[in-house]
Amino acid sequence: MKNLFFAFMTAALLLSSCGSVPITGRRQLNLVSDQEILSSSLSQYTSYMQGAKRSGNTTQSAMVTRVGKKIAAATEAYLNANGLADEVKNFSWEFNLVQDNQLNAFCMPGGKIVVYEGLMKIISSDDELAVVLGHEVAHAVAKHSNERMSQQLLAQYGAQVVSGALSNKSAAVRSVANEVYGIGAQYGMMLPFSRKHESEADYMGLILMTIAGYNPDVAVGFWQKMSGGGQSTVPEFLSTHPSDKTRISDIQKNLPDIKKKYGQTSTTTTKATTKKVTKATAVRK
Ligand SMILES: [Zn+2]
Repeated sequence: MKNLFFAFMTAALLLSSCGSVPITGRRQLNLVSDQEILSSSLSQYTSYMQGAKRSGNTTQSAMVTRVGKKIAAATEAYLNANGLADEVKNFSWEFNLVQDNQLNAFCMPGGKIVVYEGLMKIISSDDELAVVLGHEVAHAVAKHSNERMSQQLLAQYGAQVVSGALSNKSAAVRSVANEVYGIGAQYGMMLPFSRKHESEADYMGLILMTIAGYNPDVAVGFWQKMSGGGQSTVPEFLSTHPSDKTRISDIQKNLPDIKKKYGQTSTTTTKATTKKVTKATAVRK
């Protein structure tokens, strides 16, 4: 009887620990507070940046900041226009281009964006960079790190963590944060997200770049370029961001609807952007 009661309480607590992803509305497990996520990711980001070398390429650095700021403004406009203004305070945006030859980029919770110089070699326009940054910012908006840490906590500590009985939760959070951020791992800063998270970030990223005034049509060609055009040399970026026919066909399938709902025909000022932002009704599979 006691066990049954405990199982019931655990299930009830799990339900109350669910949040929903902006734009897609998908329900997700969030066992870690925004504050805990932000402080653990900020310390990981700070130590990463202390060891990283900033790019000396001022043109490309300015490009990262320019596109990043527009995506950030579009993201905040969307959140503000959809009753999610509380989420905006979680972001304190930073944009960095660092010396690293890998084809990669990431956005930490809190809006800390890092692009590697290697990726810029295949980026030929602001629109293409917006595909990458929209995707990365989407991971942060969708709190994929929180969801992944919550799944890890649940797997490692079970009901204890859900019921609040875990004696040293902050140590447990730090421990799973190290696993999730994978400092020093072969993938670089962030360990791979699941296919579900990648697909969701693709979808949300296209919407964010469209709201920001960029052309989402370039996404198909960009991911084709990332897939190496059938060459045997697979870029490093693909080891963390699997690119395949499914991803590209999903993007092709979603583009008309996204352009219709979020596309702009005139100016791209924040005011105009805010007016254009409407709640998405599409829900990902
Ligand atoms: Zn991703």
